[in-house]
Amino acid sequence: MADQNQNYAGKIAFVTGAANGIGRTTAIAFAEAGAHVAVVDLNGDGVAEVVAAIEAAGGSAVGITCDVSKSEDVRTALDKTVEAFGGIDIAFNNAGIEQQQIPLADLSEEDFDRMTAIDLRGVFLCMKYQIPLMQKRGGGAIVNTSSGAGVVGIAGQAGYVAVKHGVIGMSKSAALEYIGDNVRVNVICPGIIETPMITDRVSGGTEEGQKKMIAQEPIGRMGKPEEIAAAVLYICSDSAAFMVGHAMVVDGGQTVGLGG
Ligand code: NAD
Repeated sequence: MADQNQNYAGKIAFVTGAANGIGRTTAIAFAEAGAHVAVVDLNGDGVAEVVAAIEAAGGSAVGITCDVSKSEDVRTALDKTVEAFGGIDIAFNNAGIEQQQIPLADLSEEDFDRMTAIDLRGVFLCMKYQIPLMQKRGGGAIVNTSSGAGVVGIAGQAGYVAVKHGVIGMSKSAALEYIGDNVRVNVICPGIIETPMITDRVSGGTEEGQKKMIAQEPIGRMGKPEEIAAAVLYICSDSAAFMVGHAMVVDGGQTVGLGG
């Protein structure tokens, strides 16, 4: 996956939600491109599996079990990364949970708060404690995961839409605040990607459910996690040095417009 413009040799990448799906594939892609990778996730077994896969391929990784909604966990995870590799150059703040298809008035306060805590507060906490570490090193690149739900409204998804719009707004503000310190903050907005979130849960794990998901994609298929990882590696690379506060949509046309 790596190309000549994406040389990550010696760079240190911190990836959350790295035990599965988009995060897992991106963590492995960073490692294949030469980076030392902090594999960060709530799922400790998954973390161990990804670290083993990276090491078996000759890469360098440290596994860290962490709940991104908890300040102490995030700070400890960053401390462990610095301890292992000396600092942090790249952050992919990607851990997130989905919302069941449910109208706003029926969405429980607990579910709304849980989604906010992980998908929005988690990104806030990660950036809050990553940015000073990057400033110390003279710069860095952060990519936060939003969604197509960050750029359009979706019936039945008001909570998820709210937090994913929030990720973009918060990232744009941080981008302006820290570009003077050479810290670039950008956002990735995936369409429907073939990960456990979609194939096992949102689709109900059925073929029928998956067909319904694909019907929302003008391109006629789900995206592959590799297609998001490639975009993230590009955004973090020197090739994208002029990209600041951008929300890059990689979605098979899902949010382009009507018809098709
Ligand atoms: P996934 O469920 O396959 O993987 C998400 C990972 O995040 C899991 O390993 C899970 O353990 C971890 N996680 C959950 N809560 C956590 C917490 N509190 N702390 C640390 N880790 C936690 O999901 P995915 O599809 O790979 O999604 C990754 C990101 O992409 C999410 O932010 C999601 O909202 C976003 N996204 C996904 C799609 C899609 O179609 N798959 C589309 C748009 C956006």
